[in-house]
Amino acid sequence: MTAFPQGTILGYPRIGRRRELKKAVESFWSGRSDLQQLEQTAAGLRAATRERLATLGLGRDDSAIPESFSYYDQVLDAAVTVGAIPARFENLREADGTIGLPAYFTIARGEGERAPLEMTKWFDSNYHYLVPEIGPETTFSLSSDRLVRQVEEAVAAGFVTRPVVVGPVTLLALAKASDDAPEGFDPLSRLDDLVPVYVELLARLKAAGAEWVQLDEPALVSESLPTSVEKLADAAARALDVIGGSAERPSILVAAPYASLEATFSVLVAAPIEAIAVDLVRGAVPAAAAGLADKILVGGVIDGHNIWRGDLSDAFEKLDALGQLGAASVSASTSTSLLHVPHDVTDESALDERLVSWLAFADQKVEQVVTLARGLAGGRPAIKEALDAASAALDDRRSAPGVRDGSVRSRALAEGDFSRAAYAEREAAQQEALGLPALPLTTIGSFPQTGDIRRARAQFLRGELSNEDYEAFLRREIDSVVDLQEELGLDVLVHGEPERNDMVQYFAENLDGFTVTENGWVQSYGSRATRPSILWGDVSRPAPITVGWSTYAQSKTAKHMKGMLTGPVTILAWSFVRDDQPLADTANQVALALRDEIADLESAGIAVIQVDEPALRELLPLKKADQPSYLDWSVASFRLATGGAGTATQVHTHLCYSEFGVVIDAIRALDADVTSIEAARSRMDVVTDIAEVGFDHGIGPGVYDIHSPRVPTVDEIESLLRRAVDEIPTRQLWVNPDCGLKTRGYDETTASLRNIVEATRRVREDV
Ligand code: GLN
Ligand code: ZN
Repeated sequence: MTAFPQGTILGYPRIGRRRELKKAVESFWSGRSDLQQLEQTAAGLRAATRERLATLGLGRDDSAIPESFSYYDQVLDAAVTVGAIPARFENLREADGTIGLPAYFTIARGEGERAPLEMTKWFDSNYHYLVPEIGPETTFSLSSDRLVRQVEEAVAAGFVTRPVVVGPVTLLALAKASDDAPEGFDPLSRLDDLVPVYVELLARLKAAGAEWVQLDEPALVSESLPTSVEKLADAAARALDVIGGSAERPSILVAAPYASLEATFSVLVAAPIEAIAVDLVRGAVPAAAAGLADKILVGGVIDGHNIWRGDLSDAFEKLDALGQLGAASVSASTSTSLLHVPHDVTDESALDERLVSWLAFADQKVEQVVTLARGLAGGRPAIKEALDAASAALDDRRSAPGVRDGSVRSRALAEGDFSRAAYAEREAAQQEALGLPALPLTTIGSFPQTGDIRRARAQFLRGELSNEDYEAFLRREIDSVVDLQEELGLDVLVHGEPERNDMVQYFAENLDGFTVTENGWVQSYGSRATRPSILWGDVSRPAPITVGWSTYAQSKTAKHMKGMLTGPVTILAWSFVRDDQPLADTANQVALALRDEIADLESAGIAVIQVDEPALRELLPLKKADQPSYLDWSVASFRLATGGAGTATQVHTHLCYSEFGVVIDAIRALDADVTSIEAARSRMDVVTDIAEVGFDHGIGPGVYDIHSPRVPTVDEIESLLRRAVDEIPTRQLWVNPDCGLKTRGYDETTASLRNIVEATRRVREDV
């Protein structure tokens, strides 16, 4: 076995410090640059990454540097590498059967009638991967040598890197059955056909100069996938027997990040592989297992999810504990790939210096790993200074002003703060107060964020547009959104959210306890990145946030104007959240700020208030045992935010997915008067779930898939609505799109809404 480096990371951000990859890829898509230019930029980014990682202290030629680049998504990379693409894209292969970069992008983005692969969230992160489609007809064959060429490229530059590829079990566990597959088909049933392609790939990687390869198998820790952990562990044992048993291969590191491996750990220890990476941030040190003496354990002790510098001594102690298990050796690593964090905190010139000293972005985490590796080699005294410095930063953080704010902490919570009057009473009061027709029509909040809006915002931020002029511009925008909704005949109107760059950042910018970064981009999917805010201190609301805009909008119409807030769980999910207190406590602080905002909206005459929680499902822990307590605090924070609303005030919530069944108990417990959810893409299948579980509050299953520029026809919407009316009592039903309209243009939005109104008119005649 080749020695494994004492310090490594499981993966590195691939978008570039200034989102160079995004720009290069989008320019290629739009035809402004050609394939060669794109490949050149990407090769330049990979070269810069290797150099950077070596400068930060990872070895140039000991496989410490991961080869973890991706043009779009690592799951798509793996699928394309093994040739697992849907039949509708088969004709895109080159003459020699390989799948080139243009085809790769087409599979990711679709083309005309050919739908792209579906996209969904990667474990409990906000990163989205593409869902492979696999059926009995899928023929697995090595169809891309991109990873092999990257290893060669590294060798040519004087590096021996460690190629990273999603492993066979995770690839199949995350796949869905192809369109051609028979009912009940399980992609995992194709494992034995897939494995030989991995054997071939590993042989090629070895020939290219790789001494180690990393197979990412996070599916092995998840209890939230359709296949049980036990079944996945069996599959891993089978697959690794063959892959590990092959003659020509690099040494194998299997990484299983995002939670504890538990019983599956012993399965990996028994497999013919050389090293296992375990997540010791989200997971625990595993129990000793027979056969460990010839395995290398890689302890993921530096948090790959979050941006805090954290407790380095504690990380070192975890490595110590891992060392007690009796493995051949122990190495230090990040808990997950660093793809979830921005590049470099020294790139943030506007951040408060003190805050910076508490933070670690990707590059700082690499340095932390390098320090720990030094400690593993030379013992604790060798790194005493670094450990002390990290502890001092933690101490400083504990005592810094704003981290603990007495006036926030002294707000006592009473049992009654978490609940409102009985639903029946609220329903009656709201019916009387609001006077809405059957099947009330509304939208989810945002209207198209046009080029004009983005330009005006940019000008305002650059100081080229005065605050007065910017606000006047936004008021005109609201005027036209209100006019449009009145003309269309919607019942509950929205102001359109033109003042918000992003539904979380907007609140972060207006609440104390948060700060925003300049360059802290994190890949969300493909070429898209977000810039999460940093929630570092106690949260409070210095002044009302949305009240001015909502009351202005309300003054323009006799219809009800819906106030629009983002809920505590979503604000936490899409920010980098402090790690020095339970999430539940932080959520309640955000909830109290929102509660005050709701009280102010009510006093200003807003009778309908929506609190969006699209991320409620996303934060659901991967382990079943952890789910009840998560659901408890997440639901409680929503109830704390909304619990002060009067009986006649109608509280709406919006959830951005259609997996109603998974979180039905939570949705019920939110006790919102009206819940809107995604339903159009699944052709209203979700109403059957709703009817089955006997949900009795207001519900708005979406009738318009806003992810697509397509305008649904009146007939189509009518049939969706009729299905809903057939299964759910009419008094509960609302009519709305699947989600906000901000990514759509006005033409298709207006046409679609017009069709929704007409379809609703037809269905109302019969109810
Ligand atoms: N109110 C938000 C909007 O309409 C909701 C967005 C979301 O669910 N992601 O844009
Ligand atoms: Zn949504």
